[in-house]
Amino acid sequence: MEKIKMTTPIVEMDGDEMTRVLWKMIKDQLILPFVDLKTEYYDLGLLHRNDTDDQVTVDAAKATQKYGVGVKCATITPNAQRMIEYPQLKKMWRSPNGTIRAILDGTAFRAPIVLPCIKPVVKNWEMPITIARHAYGDMYKAVDMVTNEPGTATLTFKGVSGKETTLNVQSVDGPAIFQGQHNTEKSIRAFARSCFQYAISTKQDLWFSTKDTIAKVYDGEFKRIFQEEYDATYKTEFEKLGLTYFYTLIDDAVARIIRSKGGMIWALKNYDGDVMSDMVAAASGSLAMMTSVLVSPDGTMEFEAAHGTVTRHYYKYCKGEKTSTNPMATIFAWSGAFKQRGKLDHLPELEKFGEAMECTSLETLNDGIMTKDLVSLVEPGFTAHAVNSDEFLAAIAQRLAEKLA
Ligand code: NAP
Ligand code: MG
Repeated sequence: MEKIKMTTPIVEMDGDEMTRVLWKMIKDQLILPFVDLKTEYYDLGLLHRNDTDDQVTVDAAKATQKYGVGVKCATITPNAQRMIEYPQLKKMWRSPNGTIRAILDGTAFRAPIVLPCIKPVVKNWEMPITIARHAYGDMYKAVDMVTNEPGTATLTFKGVSGKETTLNVQSVDGPAIFQGQHNTEKSIRAFARSCFQYAISTKQDLWFSTKDTIAKVYDGEFKRIFQEEYDATYKTEFEKLGLTYFYTLIDDAVARIIRSKGGMIWALKNYDGDVMSDMVAAASGSLAMMTSVLVSPDGTMEFEAAHGTVTRHYYKYCKGEKTSTNPMATIFAWSGAFKQRGKLDHLPELEKFGEAMECTSLETLNDGIMTKDLVSLVEPGFTAHAVNSDEFLAAIAQRLAEKLA
């Protein structure tokens, strides 16, 4: 069989621990036999980030911006314990995901991989619900104050022009608490654009919800900016594709989402997204089945698994044990990158390869061959047996070879 050709490279960001092991297994067993792989490789493994003073992370993000498509392996974000584990670390390096997100000015979209033999807790969810969380500001960049006597809090903005605006927050007659939050129009607009872009790219409806009946000005601005972006730039394309942009109050959205069939992107403010992404993840099954894609306002996409480096499994692997680590989310990161690269470069073969990777992985699971973490989640009456990562990938590779033949 002739290997599938690529024209533009995908930016490949290697990572750490068990996911680095899976990364190589996926490439060797599922990709290299079928694709004449073109990547620009960046080693984001912790020690190489340390050797390059983290420049490699910045370079990888810039390359992703240049080529438009990247795929990233999970990486260690060092903490105090890692500083002891890796004494050669010069610094407690920042989270690579944070660095990449800041450079790409992107929004992360998280969606579970769903399959018939593992039903979500919410039985009527037939399709995945993708959560888009605004990752800047509000409560996450707030100032707080506890006060102990009667008094008055005010809110003052001093413009560079010298103009000042002051509002009375509240006069209190005893101990009280206060919080000052902000967001920027630029960040909200970038968030809106990423959401509309991703909805068009994945052909899914976009829902957006805030509490603008109560926070009339603050949340009202979010609502206004989204509507403005929609009307000015995305409405025509949405209508052409038969997609809906739907704004509703957050409490109404929660009730509707629970009763829905799924299949939409749900854009949420920072705190709402924090809460709802964990709710959707827990209701959908397993962290190992959660995919994530970072989308920038210009449509650049970086695909990854939502989980971490699976440290506990890595320590077993280092002792020579075979582990049953679930590679699904990492496989879907690669397949997502191939589908997007294929779409941008007009290479239907590459797009089809990405789809084939996804369908054969799902077929393998539906045949009852799965990693340990999933076996306990299958529906009653469905028989499944646990295999190790090697055996699981071999079963997919066999189906992939048959499908592509
Ligand atoms: P984790 O790597 O996601 O693993 C937590 C636990 O979840 C695992 O011990 C395992 O449970 C289960 N799990 C996660 N993914 C799995 C998979 N693919 N297959 C089977 N089980 C899976 O989170 P963590 O232990 O909190 O973090 C480990 C490292 O990852 C940290 O250094 C952190 O900085 C990094 N991290 C990176 C990213 C990223 O790069 N995007 C995200 C999160 C965390 P059992 O042990 O019970 O089997
Ligand atoms: Mg959370």
